[in-house]
Amino acid sequence: MHMHSAMKTGMRVCGEQALSRCHIHRTYISSRYGRANGQRVQSQREEVLLPTMPVRNKDVTDGAWDDADRHAVDEALKDAEKIARLGIKTGVDHTQVLLGQRIEDLEKLCTLTGQPTYRAKQMCDAVYRKGVKRIQDISNIPKAWKESLVEEHGVSVGRSTIHHRVVAADGTQKFLLRLHDGLVVETVGIPADGSHRLTVCVSSQIGCPMRCTFCATGKGGFARNLMPHEIVDQVLTVQEEFGQRVSNVVFMGMGEPLLNIPSVMRAHEIINKELNIGARHVTISTVGVPNAILKLARYATQSTLAISIHAPNQQIRETIVPSAKAYPLQALMKDCSEYFRVTGRRVTFEYTLLAGVNDDVQQAKDLAALLKEHGNMKSHVNVIPWNPVDESEFKRPSRKNVTTFVRVLEQAGIKTSIRVTRGLEAAAACGQLRNKHQTTPVHMDG
Ligand code: SF4
Repeated sequence: MHMHSAMKTGMRVCGEQALSRCHIHRTYISSRYGRANGQRVQSQREEVLLPTMPVRNKDVTDGAWDDADRHAVDEALKDAEKIARLGIKTGVDHTQVLLGQRIEDLEKLCTLTGQPTYRAKQMCDAVYRKGVKRIQDISNIPKAWKESLVEEHGVSVGRSTIHHRVVAADGTQKFLLRLHDGLVVETVGIPADGSHRLTVCVSSQIGCPMRCTFCATGKGGFARNLMPHEIVDQVLTVQEEFGQRVSNVVFMGMGEPLLNIPSVMRAHEIINKELNIGARHVTISTVGVPNAILKLARYATQSTLAISIHAPNQQIRETIVPSAKAYPLQALMKDCSEYFRVTGRRVTFEYTLLAGVNDDVQQAKDLAALLKEHGNMKSHVNVIPWNPVDESEFKRPSRKNVTTFVRVLEQAGIKTSIRVTRGLEAAAACGQLRNKHQTTPVHMDG
């Protein structure tokens, strides 16, 4: 969450990570196909290693960022590379699912299976616009081809099923989606009163290795990165369940998006081009991953980068975001100003106010000074008063402290807004719903 959103307001009770070694599970991707355009096409059944991770050890306790954490982050990054190599590569032998594929990928699939390329558009319409969930239900393509895609090539649409749903009094709905391997992931739909705005808070990983102290997601450990179709699916699900077009997407759900850049950016492309949601209506939120912000800048997207900063100095930040030890605040800020220089897009800073931790006047002054020190990034600060849930170790700041904090920033010339917590009743913290429903994570031994 990166306190990302108001939906993520839980606290972690486990602590220091002690992840056991990486666990790779094996799965098979069928890649048998016969003749395409008169040419013999290779027939094979290829074993592909899908990257998964072990869940966090139950005995872990809170503590400083250490080697086990670094290892978990490295594994998540390797996981993302594997997705880029295997999952996003085009061609029949890697096109297990239609969702998440670009039209040019589907054209390739058509060609390889002896069909005219215009059928790719028919598939895109069916999957992205009509919400077809099974290849058999795509109405305007030949039956024999559908059968061959499903039976010979093992292709599916790639949709999840809704495992559980919680509806809040304010209309926010949280969904727990069951994926093909039995793991579950959360997504949240947040409607706006009196407007057509519907925001989806999407997850980018199952679990998260970053273990920020206020976040419930870390409690469940880190299972794996999401594939592009599993991210796009969240947007489609919310759209269908609300019966309303999604207007905004925020990568503020479970997981650290910058540990899974290939999937996140492919999903971003599909959300933009196929679901027609403008890049300026997409926000990618991060607590910070070394070298990742400039990598993101290379995609030259118009979406908003939101940094979950939560503290005005390194010392306090490390107590809230332990991973800050591996990516010091000054280095993070330097990368943010470089991001602004390269993309011209203003950077947003998310600051969750925790009573007695980071909410006094001096800390507001220090935050203002920090932002100014790193030049004019047209920074905007979102102040999020902490809203305690369950047994949280943190307390909500007083109204006086919230208004004083905001006033100090504004007097320093920094645009600031207060974000209201939404959907607390909808099972509260990010990760809590998933933790409740999947206390024993599903292992995927091959
Ligand atoms: S632990 Fe992960 S999901 Fe939770 S706030 Fe930190 S980066 Fe976001």
